[in-house]
Amino acid sequence: MKREELIFVGCSDIAGKIRGKSVPASDLDARLRRGVGWTPTNVQITCFDLIADTPYGAFGDVLLVPDPNTLVRAAFEDGLPAESFVVGTIKRLDGSPWECCTRSILADALDRLHRVAGLTLNSAFEQEFHFKAMRSAAGSAYSYGGFRVQRVFGETLTAVMRESGLKPDTFLKEYGVDQYEVTSGPQHGLRGADHALMLRELIRIVGERLDRPVSFTPLRDPDGVGNGVHVHMSFVDDDGQPATYDPESATGLSHTAGSFVAGILKYLPAIVALTAPSGISYQRLSPHRWSAPFNNLGAQDREAGVRLCPLFDIGEVDKAAQFNFEYRAADAAASPYLQLAAIVHAGVQGIEDGMPTPPATSEDLSLLSAEVLAQRGYRRLPESLETALELFQNDPVAPTWFPDGFADIYVKHKRGELDFLKDKSDAEVHAAYEDAY
Ligand code: GLU
Ligand code: MG
Repeated sequence: MKREELIFVGCSDIAGKIRGKSVPASDLDARLRRGVGWTPTNVQITCFDLIADTPYGAFGDVLLVPDPNTLVRAAFEDGLPAESFVVGTIKRLDGSPWECCTRSILADALDRLHRVAGLTLNSAFEQEFHFKAMRSAAGSAYSYGGFRVQRVFGETLTAVMRESGLKPDTFLKEYGVDQYEVTSGPQHGLRGADHALMLRELIRIVGERLDRPVSFTPLRDPDGVGNGVHVHMSFVDDDGQPATYDPESATGLSHTAGSFVAGILKYLPAIVALTAPSGISYQRLSPHRWSAPFNNLGAQDREAGVRLCPLFDIGEVDKAAQFNFEYRAADAAASPYLQLAAIVHAGVQGIEDGMPTPPATSEDLSLLSAEVLAQRGYRRLPESLETALELFQNDPVAPTWFPDGFADIYVKHKRGELDFLKDKSDAEVHAAYEDAY
């Protein structure tokens, strides 16, 4: 059968989906200049495809303008056209960024970081997912056998990642049933989130091509562990020098990095609505799932909201360049752009407000009473999306980081998502998210 390659031109939306239109691949150059027409109300299409309360109604037009830096082209040498997509920014008709463009929102947050602290963010996303239609043998967690079961997947993914300019880092059998994890190397600025998005989609693409569909749902089984996204971050200054590490400080964090982390912890209860944004994300964010139930900085603690990653003194890597911290209260129901924007804004607020570096905990906070937790300045993160949305909406500062109107649209979108779930059983809700992500 005759086929001509199409390329998908999309945007990363509030639902954490890539939505857009496909055009003949041969038209890509023209589309890079002219863009593709788009509809404002599309931002209120939830992950279940219903349209939440929208201020735009049937009105208006915006333009999706692809950025060639995000171009993915995965050719599988199987005689079929390559799978290709590109994302970009959404502009108003006058060329200015549209208020609901997640990528422009991140660009704004990164500009603010540079303006306030003269720093550029490096980020790398760890991504966990599971294969939907198989049951890995008991005893395969982190095992060589578990790796071998998906070796073809891992090697195909490594090849297409490299072809698309990503830096393959690790591929492993995670702890959960059928759960795997892929990481790619750190990237500067916007490209950190670009690569997270590209990698997530490449994982889906390879899964489909090999007939091994995957899901990134935050929690497949209420009794199991979740699929998390862990965002590793560090800074460089304008001379390209690492700016995260101070060997003299108790945590190892430089003064500015310490204030950034303090800002994240302060605003974590309010921003988690944007970083772990599904109805079931909050079941994952509970103690003893190795996720992130509290707004603490943990010294190498895999249950901390922010974890200080270890420094290995093996003489090979410069410590200052190696040092990074990891935000753990995130999952793949979020757009990586919005996720990172919320984290960066919270961190920059901490820098602007001159917050001191928080102490690092090295104990299980879930064993402390609510009273002791409060005395020590820690909070249990919200236990439902509804509560998380209220904390975001009612926070006096967090909504102001975003373009006018955005916070309200975001909350309406998420409430529309919750409406779809309200008469469903727990099992139906989990199945709906497994399908959606
Ligand atoms: N699956 C855990 C989560 O939901 C993370 C496990 C790990 O530390 O990699 O975040
Ligand atoms: Mg993991």
